[in-house]
Amino acid sequence: MGKMDWISDELTSLRESGRYIPIRILKSSQGAWVSIDGKQMLNLCSNNYLGLANHPEVKKAMADAVSYYGVGAGAVRSIAGTMDIHIMLEEKIAKFKHMENSLVYQGGLLANLGTIPALVGKEDLIFSEELNHASIIDGVRLSSAKRIVFSHLSYQDLEKQLKAERRTGKKALIVTDGVFSMDGDIAPLPEIAELGNQYNAMVYVDDAHGEGVLGDHGRGIVDHFNLVGRVDIEMGTFSKAIGVMGGFVAGSQDLIDLLKQRARPFLFSSALNPGEVAAILKSIEIMERDDSLLKKLWSNAEKLKGGLNDLGYNTGHSKTPITPVIIGDERNAVEFSKQLYGEGVFASPIIYPTVAKGTARIRLMPSAVHSDGDINFAIDKFESIGKKMKLL
Ligand SMILES: *Cc1c(COP(=O)(O)O)cnc(C)c1O
Repeated sequence: MGKMDWISDELTSLRESGRYIPIRILKSSQGAWVSIDGKQMLNLCSNNYLGLANHPEVKKAMADAVSYYGVGAGAVRSIAGTMDIHIMLEEKIAKFKHMENSLVYQGGLLANLGTIPALVGKEDLIFSEELNHASIIDGVRLSSAKRIVFSHLSYQDLEKQLKAERRTGKKALIVTDGVFSMDGDIAPLPEIAELGNQYNAMVYVDDAHGEGVLGDHGRGIVDHFNLVGRVDIEMGTFSKAIGVMGGFVAGSQDLIDLLKQRARPFLFSSALNPGEVAAILKSIEIMERDDSLLKKLWSNAEKLKGGLNDLGYNTGHSKTPITPVIIGDERNAVEFSKQLYGEGVFASPIIYPTVAKGTARIRLMPSAVHSDGDINFAIDKFESIGKKMKLL
């Protein structure tokens, strides 16, 4: 046996257990419809909530920045990679989030990997929500702080764990997703922020799916709950509603100053390119100027959920546009997604271990660029396939 043969064995085992994920190739931009395998497909998979990934003003902002600044930032930011446009973006986010300052990273994943270990170490404690995103879990691991997991959406369990564990450890950090991407449910952030004060624990929220979706003009979960000034660290991404690439952390000036000295993705990896930065600035400017995309996103989401519920589908406990259609059985969910694909609807099945056994689902991500006709098209296909598969 060759020393690399384990790889093909592992791939075989993934394929045999149905956990091998085939990757579709899009030959078009991310829009309401995408071109896959030479076919036009209704796109219900993308996190491009507001349609900004293909917005003409955002595209032009990127092109203009490329012609002025070139395509690359040229270095790590602390060496020579910080351009004035990076600083403009950090000021813009701070203002948008009503925080003192912010730090831009090359991705949301990197923001979590970089920030968490800069805040807590070996002697400290992290209280981490059970269903937190993989990038938080990895950031927690990199920090080598003691990890205490609390139950999904349960501030009661968080309080129990804080009571039991808080006296040890010098510093403590509570970290949670704001919106949970598989169910579309929302963390009880007001209660969590209160517990953070009571137990002297920093509060960190990952708002990747709240940005551009929740709050006034899409300012996110902290604004949604009127918690400005009561959440210590707000992390987010530019790759979802904002439509581009990159991530950030917003908080106090001291926090940002420290991260610039400690966060490894900031210190050891080159900066986001200026074209991306300009595109993000334009996306935020559009969100600030006009909330019609946000309103359209929500009305599409309500129409989609309402139509599916009227047919008898269970769309779970989502409080956001994320629309899980719970099928239950793993094989049925995979088959349902295949049938949808055959009918021109691109929507992924989500199965164990991403979600609990027996709660397999098709996750639908409506956006602001879907028309009423697009939403009706999806509902019609759910009706015909559901009847054919005897699920309705
Ligand atoms: C998508 C996501 C990330 C990662 O963001 P990227 O900018 O795509 O790296 C982090 N946290 C959560 C909760 C996410 O959903």
